[in-house]
Amino acid sequence: MEYQRSDEEFKLILSRYKEIQRKLRPRATKEQKMEVRKAFTLAFNAHKDMRRRSGEPYILHPLEVANIVLDHMNLGTTSVICALLHDIVEDTDYTLQDIESLFGEEVASIIDGLTKIDDVSDTPMSRQFETFKKILLTMSKDARVILIKLADRLHNMRTLDSMPQEKQLKIASETLYMYAPLAHRLGFYNIKSELEDLAMKYQDPGSYNYISDCIKNTEKDREIFIEQFIAPIREQLTARDFKFEIVSRTKSIYSIWQKMTKKKIPFDEVYDLFAIRIIIEADDEHQKSSCWSVYSIVTDIYKPKADRLRDWISMPKANGYQSLHTTVMSNKGKWVEVQIRTRQMDTIAENGFAAHWVYKGNDKHTDEQGVEAWLASIKEILQNNENNTGELVSNVKMNLFNKEIFVFTSKGDEHTMPENSTVLDFAYEMSADTGNYCIGAKVNNKLVPPSHILKTGDQIEVITSQKQRVQEEWLTFVATAKAVDNITNALGQQRKEKIAQGKEQLKTYLKKYNVDVNKINRDKLMMFTGYKDKESLYLAIYNRQIPELKIKQCFSKISIAYRLLDWIKPAVKWMWGMKNILTIDNALRRKLTHNPQSLLLGNVHEIKQTIAPCCNPVAGDQVIAFALNNNEIVVHRANCAEAVKLSARYGDKIVKAKWRAEENKVDFLAGISLKGFDSKGLVHSITGIIHQDFQVNCRTIHFETTEGLFEGKIILYIQNVEHLNKLMERLRSIPNIEKVERIYSDENENKH
Ligand code: MN
Repeated sequence: MEYQRSDEEFKLILSRYKEIQRKLRPRATKEQKMEVRKAFTLAFNAHKDMRRRSGEPYILHPLEVANIVLDHMNLGTTSVICALLHDIVEDTDYTLQDIESLFGEEVASIIDGLTKIDDVSDTPMSRQFETFKKILLTMSKDARVILIKLADRLHNMRTLDSMPQEKQLKIASETLYMYAPLAHRLGFYNIKSELEDLAMKYQDPGSYNYISDCIKNTEKDREIFIEQFIAPIREQLTARDFKFEIVSRTKSIYSIWQKMTKKKIPFDEVYDLFAIRIIIEADDEHQKSSCWSVYSIVTDIYKPKADRLRDWISMPKANGYQSLHTTVMSNKGKWVEVQIRTRQMDTIAENGFAAHWVYKGNDKHTDEQGVEAWLASIKEILQNNENNTGELVSNVKMNLFNKEIFVFTSKGDEHTMPENSTVLDFAYEMSADTGNYCIGAKVNNKLVPPSHILKTGDQIEVITSQKQRVQEEWLTFVATAKAVDNITNALGQQRKEKIAQGKEQLKTYLKKYNVDVNKINRDKLMMFTGYKDKESLYLAIYNRQIPELKIKQCFSKISIAYRLLDWIKPAVKWMWGMKNILTIDNALRRKLTHNPQSLLLGNVHEIKQTIAPCCNPVAGDQVIAFALNNNEIVVHRANCAEAVKLSARYGDKIVKAKWRAEENKVDFLAGISLKGFDSKGLVHSITGIIHQDFQVNCRTIHFETTEGLFEGKIILYIQNVEHLNKLMERLRSIPNIEKVERIYSDENENKH
């Protein structure tokens, strides 16, 4: 039975349709407008028996989506047609083939993309990832799919009232989780704020209503304040013949709430509750200069806060946003944010990049690079990524949510990176190879490791070494999906190579022991060694975790006896290890207590002397000694913190102490730490200087390389502080060594 539409409803439908045609008028040809009419007629008939949950005729939904596409995104007729038809294939008898024969391939392919993105409100969280992936995949084919999908979501959020409550919550959380960030990343600020506000309205109605009441209650005062604030600006701008508009923008409810909770402040203390926006009419050549002229006029009237100038004009955000932001002091003693931009910049800021496409026509101009690059990077991730969806989503989300910083190459080229990007992220931004071989960088001329976090304005020169290998721990500190992707790939590649080499190695072993290379023998070895799959077996062989001997045992008749031996070995090893676990402090103390003659203390002889383990003084150091009751003396370095504390409390126990003249005959233990970049022959140069040039004996030497940074710790026997200083001076002269410091004790090492 056909549903009877009331005249009222019909009038409404027609007026919304006419609205679309009116908005299209300046930019569409007659033929294009006819196509839109055709789409409207088709949608009208296809949906004619359908009503939305709210009771209104279904056709109003596609009409509103088409209006949003025009109002907020400035898109053209193809998108309007697609918006009108977006629910047809899914909800009516029309097929994709029908659409294609009526409207052509382009429209059909966009509708196809839109149909493939199902609504996820009923699906569990894990399925939402699936959907998210689909959205991104379709988007990378044609950005209009995601734009229309956003418009669709916006209208569904606007009409969420009629949904049952649990559905409202699901849709709201999904909106905050996926669609608002997407809108933000694409530069649709208005849509983003509206989506967030609507989502909050359903998720947290109490706070939402509270803040919206606060805004309403303070409106009058705000209006008066703003009028007084802008009056002198308006006067000056008019006097200088500027064509302009001044508007005030109140922050969205959601972002006010964010600020209140983040900073734990009440509503009254949100100082940037609103911003004043000055929009200037300027021709193409005077876009930048007119903004700066207005800036100087404004700051002549009101004093600007020095650290609050944000120049998004010289460096537009990746989504194309351009504006000059400053915070100035009003006559009422209140900080006010002033945003200065041209009409063109404003349209882009409000309506995203799509608006920009209209300005620039089809000419792919440099300004589009932000979104283009972003889309390209997503495509890249989707293409090289067959990993599970969860990982993929977190990769992409990483790029969606992060704020941005601006950094520069050594040549001064600017790069936009997400907040918390590290040197390694930057290296991968340069190229996969630069990242894979990165051992560090010079950031503003200071050497830093790959994990160093970058800030806006940093100038970076990546340092690479062909010896570098991609390391698993890199994944713990990179911030960009690109880096994660490249590292994961390289690690996978490394693993494959190792497995192949392990396999070859095993073959060699087996041949050597006249064992057939076959599956049975491989399985036997797996059983014997306890590895559950062949890949980990090969990997273990490659990593020398399975010694050759063990392979021999596996295939020898007396393997059981060997296995017994194998069980005993770790125990023996462990006992050996015990000796080496003894700490430096103890060793040092022992050594020095065995050489009591190293100190001359006044006229007292035959006294037990202890070198304080907190600062380990050596001959030549300034020292301070404390007498203990039982004929024992403890010697500290004069500037040791512990000694200073002791002197305050036990001043009467201080005894005079100085080093004996024949000090040179005695060896003291001293520690040195070295830091620098790992390079060929580095260890050799260090040990050469110590052993050959200085003929010093070492107690322990410990060298470590992390992320291409070299760190060494040497405990050695030296004669006196002068001797030590000379040695350290020599070590400092080694190329690639950046820092040589004395270690006073294991625990205090970090404080010095
Ligand atoms: Mn829809």
